[in-house]
Amino acid sequence: MVNGKIKYKQYQLSKLRIINYELRIGLHLIISILQKTNQNLFFNITKLIYNKNNVSIYLQLFLNKKNNFMSQEKKFANDLIDFIYASPSQYQAVRNIKAALLKKGFKKLDRGAIWNLQKGEKYFTSKNSSAIIAFIVGTGKIEDKGFRIVSAHTDSPSLKIKPEPEIVAENSYLKINVETYGGAILSTWLDRPLSIAGRVSLMSKNPLSPIVKYINIKRPILIIPNLAIHLFRDVNDGKKFRKQVDMLPIMSIIKDKFEKDGYLKKLLAKELNVNAEDILDFDLNLYEFEKGLIMGENNEFISSGKIDDLSMVHAGIDALFNSISPEATNVMACFDNEEVGSGTKQGAASPFLKDVLKRITWECSIEKDAFMRAKINSFCISADMAHAVHPNIPEKHCPVARPKINGGPVIKFNANQKYTTDGISAAVFGMLCKKAGVEYQKYANHSDEAGGSTLGSISTSQIDIRTVDVGNPMLAMHSIRELCGVKDHFSMKKVFDEFYK
Ligand SMILES: [Zn+2]
Repeated sequence: MVNGKIKYKQYQLSKLRIINYELRIGLHLIISILQKTNQNLFFNITKLIYNKNNVSIYLQLFLNKKNNFMSQEKKFANDLIDFIYASPSQYQAVRNIKAALLKKGFKKLDRGAIWNLQKGEKYFTSKNSSAIIAFIVGTGKIEDKGFRIVSAHTDSPSLKIKPEPEIVAENSYLKINVETYGGAILSTWLDRPLSIAGRVSLMSKNPLSPIVKYINIKRPILIIPNLAIHLFRDVNDGKKFRKQVDMLPIMSIIKDKFEKDGYLKKLLAKELNVNAEDILDFDLNLYEFEKGLIMGENNEFISSGKIDDLSMVHAGIDALFNSISPEATNVMACFDNEEVGSGTKQGAASPFLKDVLKRITWECSIEKDAFMRAKINSFCISADMAHAVHPNIPEKHCPVARPKINGGPVIKFNANQKYTTDGISAAVFGMLCKKAGVEYQKYANHSDEAGGSTLGSISTSQIDIRTVDVGNPMLAMHSIRELCGVKDHFSMKKVFDEFYK
């Protein structure tokens, strides 16, 4: 055996005491044949089952090209990057989640129809095409086993296109009028190729129900250029952004100003292959065209937009897929509009989650107090990203509770209850981490900093379930390009797996 990887595998095999000598020799033989035929391949044994009674062996091998070997963590991180890139707005995020759920056998429930739920079956329902709740009906008594909920949000800070957005500057530049959505770090949006995604509403026969089409232009068509430093010598001393002036992207050069009329509508019509006159309205936001990536000397970081909070959506949905016939009803709730305070019909302050949990309970029990009892026996992990200590500006952080990237998931505390965590819900999450074999960290604000808030306390005002606020440590939260850890992302998924067991 020529290289270290095979030695490692030999070591692993010798550790498996259940395998007798002959079988071990047999496995070595298989591996050495594979080694000879595939010099450039590594073998990663992920499952090895020896059944004494049937005298059979199941050996599952993953073969990876030598230069492209990926750990499970990196694979999961790449999967997240693909998901984020395919989800440039909350509408695409929810569509992608739906497609993944359908593929895994989840059934779609219309909120306006009668639900006939079966224990052990998997379902999902959505609201406004931007919030979605997926669940597996528990096999246990709902009053006793309750709900195990992970919640996260689908939206991110962005620039949203205003109505009638075309503006001509200097008789030639076509600019698009936008307003800010949520608390974006505006400077990060400059000098970056941008594109447009969202949804478009079209004329239909029923005025109460327009036709809705989803759009992702997938080409770099906009940019917000900085002013040259020669014209603004103080730029590096801190710039104040006038949103209506400084944040308007340019889209094209036009020859005369009449060309601007309906420019965006015409573009949308062409992309969607519909008549421009049929387009009545839209919900469109800009996004960074460049895809995220794994980076760092040891590939330890994920650099991408929308890590907050699509990474928690991604980890939660994946964990739900892994849960098999749970006794409790496992729920993954993805809300919209967290970045603007959650107070919308599809946000965490709406009765969306409560209504779904009530309907599940009605389907599973005839007892009149079933929902009240189920709530008491439930637990919610509100999963939204957390601040890692910034290596350049450490003084902004609490002197003691200072999470680091790849140091594990973070429990978030705030005495004024902007985070709903208390000593008991934190202990629950701590135990889940220990059971999952995952290190965890704690976060509290520097006492002189206001800090942020999240879904937990907003959601509990609608439905009073024990809740902990957690998230993975990250830097540059709300930048167009955020940074988190490859290892942490996989660790959080492992904790969710444990929670849903
Ligand atoms: Zn967030």
